[in-house]
Amino acid sequence: METLAILGGRPVRSTPLTYGKQYIDEEDIQAVVETLKSDYLTCGPKITELEEALCQVTGAKYCVAVSNGTAALHIAAIAAGLGEGDEVITSPITFAASANCSLYCGARPVFADINPETYNIDPKAIRRCITPRTKAVVAVDFTGQAVALNEIRSICDKHHLTLIEDAAHSIGTRYNGRPVGSIADLTAFSFHPVKTVTSGEGGAVTTNDEALYKRLLLARSHGITRDRAQMTFPSDDPWYYEQITLGYNYRLTDFQAALLLSQLKKLKMFSARRKEIVAKYNEAFSNIPQIQVQKEIPESDTVRHLYILRIKCDMLTCTRREFFDALYAENIHCQVHYIPVYWLPYYEKIGYKKGLCPNAETYYGECMSLPLYYSLSDKDVDDVIRAVNKLIAYYRK
Ligand SMILES: *Cc1c(COP(=O)(O)O)cnc(C)c1O
Repeated sequence: METLAILGGRPVRSTPLTYGKQYIDEEDIQAVVETLKSDYLTCGPKITELEEALCQVTGAKYCVAVSNGTAALHIAAIAAGLGEGDEVITSPITFAASANCSLYCGARPVFADINPETYNIDPKAIRRCITPRTKAVVAVDFTGQAVALNEIRSICDKHHLTLIEDAAHSIGTRYNGRPVGSIADLTAFSFHPVKTVTSGEGGAVTTNDEALYKRLLLARSHGITRDRAQMTFPSDDPWYYEQITLGYNYRLTDFQAALLLSQLKKLKMFSARRKEIVAKYNEAFSNIPQIQVQKEIPESDTVRHLYILRIKCDMLTCTRREFFDALYAENIHCQVHYIPVYWLPYYEKIGYKKGLCPNAETYYGECMSLPLYYSLSDKDVDDVIRAVNKLIAYYRK
């Protein structure tokens, strides 16, 4: 048996691999430089061009580009009309922003447990969380796999809830052939550098509903309108505008939009490579009893953002932490996605208690995200597989 690097052996590779990384080429750089030399750094033509491109990719009618994914969720929550006294059902296995967006509006997030195999929010758990105060569901396409949209859609229709999809992980994914972004009432995207396509910071919301679209536009830019039809005191003064709601400045810059437009041209290429890597990992890990791979649902044609292994510690002589550290020593730098949101100290402070979602808590004790991004070479992928196998061989009971 090979000696583990953490015990003084030779690491599987000499240079570290991170779990996620952007891919920027010369074309991306040129696109940004050209926009920097143009007349518009913000509020210019690249924003419109980007919003049209995102409508193309997602099949949505309307798109509003914003400064980041958190802002996207916030304006989606505003457009949904969330406020004081409302409850919003979401998953605990997500980034805090999926729940924070409800708190921003004075609404209360309610955490519904995950399916133990797909790790996405369980529609049965959603049903159990519904009360007369429930106003919306924020469903997160965790790792890029679409949530059970059919079932969740019909739950939302039945109870008159707004369906907000947090698609920070899932641009490019299709559900029953339809692209994510065209299915929920509002879909929020993030273009942070670890996500599949990036603008540095960036986000967007898509919708097919014109009324929601108008509210998104107001929320993005101070609640200000220059549309006469929306005004209380319409005026012909060319400088005239009205602030008709309370909004924010969540605008994206034109040079970020130019970067994202250039990245979107590579989305097919990025998606194909991510799928290839996922297939290699699945083949390597599916039949090892000491680890569990994420179940794939047939409805979702998934562009995976994260690849998750669950470490079955009852069949190993190590803890998840020891496995994580040993993999790190082999120069495979993993991550853990996510700490259940309601375990975060702020959430404890506002009254949430541990024990709420047992499946999520068990999942959190076992999960680890392996490197997954476009520029991983076959050799890199093999190194990851070799390192995991090396650890399993050492730690298996
Ligand atoms: C990244 C992410 C966000 C937030 O996006 P930012 O662009 O970082 O603000 C929201 N939800 C999920 C699930 C994410 O992964």
